[in-house]
Amino acid sequence: MNILHTSFECYPIAKVGGLADVVGALPKYQQKLGHTASVVMPCYTNDFVKKAKYKYIHEGALWLDKVSYTYAIRKVVSPDLGFDVFQIYIEGLLDTKDVYNYANDTQRFISFQLATVDWLTSLEELPDIIHCHDHHTGLIPFMLKHTKSDPNLQKIPTVFTIHNAQYQGQISFEKLSYLPDFDKKKIGLLDWGNCINPMASAIKCAWRVTTVSPSYMKELQAKANGLEELLRHEKSKCIGILNGIDTQIWNPETDLFIIKNYSQNNVVSGKKANKKWLCDQYNLNIAKPLFVFIGRLVGEKGADLLPEIIEEALSNTDINIIILGSGDTAIEERLTVLRENFIGRCYIHIGYDEKLSHIIYAGADFLMMPSRVEPCGLNQMYALRYGSIPIVRRTGGLKDTVIDIGDDGFGICHDQTTTWDVNYSIKRGIAFYDNQKEYKKNQKRIMKIDHSWDHSANQYVTLYKSLIP
Ligand code: ADP
Repeated sequence: MNILHTSFECYPIAKVGGLADVVGALPKYQQKLGHTASVVMPCYTNDFVKKAKYKYIHEGALWLDKVSYTYAIRKVVSPDLGFDVFQIYIEGLLDTKDVYNYANDTQRFISFQLATVDWLTSLEELPDIIHCHDHHTGLIPFMLKHTKSDPNLQKIPTVFTIHNAQYQGQISFEKLSYLPDFDKKKIGLLDWGNCINPMASAIKCAWRVTTVSPSYMKELQAKANGLEELLRHEKSKCIGILNGIDTQIWNPETDLFIIKNYSQNNVVSGKKANKKWLCDQYNLNIAKPLFVFIGRLVGEKGADLLPEIIEEALSNTDINIIILGSGDTAIEERLTVLRENFIGRCYIHIGYDEKLSHIIYAGADFLMMPSRVEPCGLNQMYALRYGSIPIVRRTGGLKDTVIDIGDDGFGICHDQTTTWDVNYSIKRGIAFYDNQKEYKKNQKRIMKIDHSWDHSANQYVTLYKSLIP
């Protein structure tokens, strides 16, 4: 089977969050299953792109709001990522340093989708499946069916994955002219809430809709930032497939980012060396249990509560805390102030740092995820693989992947995103840590849990097969 993934992120080329990890891993595992899987994504001008080698394979033109643009498709030749990656370059649109947050994001998203569909018309062999990821690619199922008269494109089954329903990419109907001509009777397929809603359009037009965990799919049907009714209506074509992790990259035995590699056999000394590095670096005390948070500093992740959680925990318990994240400026500012108040007990790194994140997963004793919403969550699976105990709120993918120690499980779970719940869980964590015999037994146990993509990649393939005549 020939599978084409379309996405704005793909690790290691461009990463903002979990979307990149998924799109950088799923094709690799689908290749392992004997399929041809590739990714088409925008071109960026970041460090990866500057160092990579490319081959230009196609050039074309498109109209966007009455302006003509040329686009180029280039294939990554090196480094070898284990699957083909095609990047679309459009001067002034798809040539930015970062992935999102430009004034012309709407034009960038639409131009990428227009170029992808136009490029497909030039291919001798079309993909058997087009798998679109998140709202930036959500108009592709509509475009394939309704904006080109090519019956071959209309026949390609499309799968749309919702990685996060909070971001739907709404566009005012005033910008309808950005889209190519289509039969205006089909305008309802773009509309949700009186605007063009790419995520809603994908839910309506894609052949199948997936989310990144079964629990998140159930939750979305009750509450999905306005999409719940649509998702209930389209229930028969919706399915939740749990994300996996790339166990080649996220492997404490071979991870090049961490200070000392380790396996289940030497987890204690391995984690200790990584923890020591963190403690030396940030003036913390290696004898104390280390609780960490890694992620976007936004309300969905419960990050607005972190200042309160930290103050309360450091006033009433004897632990160390490390926070790595970036996001809402108000949260960043509150955390920055707090950092000065708790020097030697808490370190807060505002920013994005891939290497540091790996060392933190390796050196931490507990990883906190007090998320209000968590479509899948990858951090808890990375933590498990690195022998760090996840403390999670029971929601979405966290509910599907972490079982509480009180239920014969291996993690710590709480029901609400409140300071009280998290601090109570921290205290449970400390009590568990004090019983070093059980704690170390659990460490070995969690490292053995298999969350690799093997199983989920197969589930996607089964789904695709059901769509191919
Ligand atoms: P989301 O995609 O909602 O942000 P996920 O749990 O699916 O959350 O994925 C988050 C990914 O981003 C993980 O690989 C995590 O390690 C990484 N990450 C998040 N914030 C940072 C940061 N500040 N520095 C390094 N890595 C980060």
